[in-house]
Amino acid sequence: MLSAYIGLGSNLGDPAAQLCAALAALSRMPETRLAARSSLYRSAPVGDAGPPDFVNAVARVETGLAAEALLDALQGIERAHGRERPFPGAPRTLDLDLLLYGSQRIATERLSVPHPRMHERAFVLLPLLELDPDAQIPDLGAARDCLCSVAGQNVERMR
Ligand code: ATP
Ligand code: CA
Ligand code: CA
Repeated sequence: MLSAYIGLGSNLGDPAAQLCAALAALSRMPETRLAARSSLYRSAPVGDAGPPDFVNAVARVETGLAAEALLDALQGIERAHGRERPFPGAPRTLDLDLLLYGSQRIATERLSVPHPRMHERAFVLLPLLELDPDAQIPDLGAARDCLCSVAGQNVERMR
């Protein structure tokens, strides 16, 4: 068993309800236990028009699944929540990213771990640091040291 961190996001339908359902689904994955979940965080878009708000969270799971099997399970949950990929960055009912898998580095066609953009995103770093203030990103170091470069991003803790 090792600890993995999953980033959850939604900006379609009822994002907070999607995330709560997804957290329950994470706890039902095979060989996996939901160990901790962060608060929900809202990323407000800049200006008043534009896409709907994103709601994000991070979960820690203890899992016996291999990394690619974990990705398969995450993608299965996305599909069960009606995820479609019409174009990159499209609004989505549910997005589940594998952020960290123990302290492993993985680079395959389907999977890059640590998630290559996690350190640039306040909506990932803030909930991750809520769960583990000492979280380490392999090759980058302490997640908290990435915070100053995302300080301008508009992310607020909801509940
Ligand atoms: P971003 O990766 O920038 O957050 P996204 O989540 O919108 O963008 P998706 O369309 O959900 O991107 O995923 C595209 C592909 O990324 C997936 O098909 C998956 O194979 C691949 N992928 C690579 N590394 C990871 C990872 N660590 N977690 C989830 N998917 C990954
Ligand atoms: Ca994503
Ligand atoms: Ca994704």
